[in-house]
Amino acid sequence: MKFVAEVLKLSKSATLRLEERRVLRQALIKHPFFPDLVDAYKLDKKFGEYEEGTLIVKTKNGYDLVRGYPKIRRALTLYPTIIKHFKEGNVVIEEKMNGYNVRVVHFGENIYAITRRGYICPYTTEKARNLIPFEFFKDNPDLMLCCEAVGEESPFVSKSVYGIKNLDFFVFDIRRRRTNEALSIKIKEKIAEEYSLNLSPILGVVDVKKAHEEVKSIVKELGKQEREGVVIKDEKMKKSPIKYTASQSNCSDLSYAFRFFNEYGKDFMFSRIVREAFQSFEFNESNDELNERCKRLGDAILKPMIESIREVSNGKKVVERNRLRFDSLEVFELFKKHVKKMGIEAEFSTPIEKNGKFVVYFDRIMMSTTDKIAAHLNGVLW
Ligand code: ATP
Ligand code: MG
Repeated sequence: MKFVAEVLKLSKSATLRLEERRVLRQALIKHPFFPDLVDAYKLDKKFGEYEEGTLIVKTKNGYDLVRGYPKIRRALTLYPTIIKHFKEGNVVIEEKMNGYNVRVVHFGENIYAITRRGYICPYTTEKARNLIPFEFFKDNPDLMLCCEAVGEESPFVSKSVYGIKNLDFFVFDIRRRRTNEALSIKIKEKIAEEYSLNLSPILGVVDVKKAHEEVKSIVKELGKQEREGVVIKDEKMKKSPIKYTASQSNCSDLSYAFRFFNEYGKDFMFSRIVREAFQSFEFNESNDELNERCKRLGDAILKPMIESIREVSNGKKVVERNRLRFDSLEVFELFKKHVKKMGIEAEFSTPIEKNGKFVVYFDRIMMSTTDKIAAHLNGVLW
């Protein structure tokens, strides 16, 4: 606790108050897999200049701080929003990949993967240690790789559209981990080349005045391929980026949220429906296109909910099932503890060995949705 006060430059009592208010939370499960760490705390809410998900660690050699990944604001209309935000010069249009946000860093002699809320995830760390060259951190100890972890064998967001059977990392920002200062896109590309890192695809560099037209056609194309959308960035990374997503991706979020409708906030659903209206308006759709959008939206909302009701009426729980693949059973055991610490209710299948790795099914139990449906099926009033 004392080290947190020192790193955040607070008094001991102010730090204790942060913990009582649940802004600050202990974040480390001590384990030989995390040999460089003595203790860790994370911020569960934004505090002063520190983003939610900021991690404060005590290592064998001292203290350290890894800033949380900043929020990216969303454009509801492309025109005039992009011009208004970036003003002049070129903007870079990057693919917004759909996985989960991971900051890859090193502490001492090893690589660690931190997820959005500031947990060190054992599963993601195991993969990062295999896929990211430690050389990068030897040469750049104060940098972090902000990546999207994508693939089929993802504990949080499983997708097959990227053609990745297991899990892989796509760097979208390189930042100074203590200040969150982002390197320019040019330098990011140079570093990715040097250390053979995957980048989130850069789909175009255009004059900001033409960006809305370009983004519109890119996003339509990405949508057809079931890809998520784009993030629009300033070449120098001095201005904050903006995100914009395809209708298909809004709908796929909605179908997920409505399948587990009692676990998700109403805001999550509502904001995605509003996006559809603005996009339809701006894209100047034909009747056919509009009808297609309405059908897509309706399907996304209703069908998954009905499926959940059917499951519960058949005596099953509503679950999200993901396939995982561990190198080591020890890491699997650690991951179980990690999931519990995250407050996720889960069941795991017995690991099956395949070519020296262990395949496990991770069922996330959606208890709140299950209970809600069961109650109504048993005659409880809304
Ligand atoms: P945010 O608070 O940043 O809006 P969110 O949890 O609501 O986050 P998203 O709507 O998925 O998340 O949008 C932001 C996220 O998109 C980033 O946190 C990052 O994980 C992901 N991402 C994927 N590709 C990129 C990219 N090329 N550039 C920046 N972020 C990207
Ligand atoms: Mg995302």
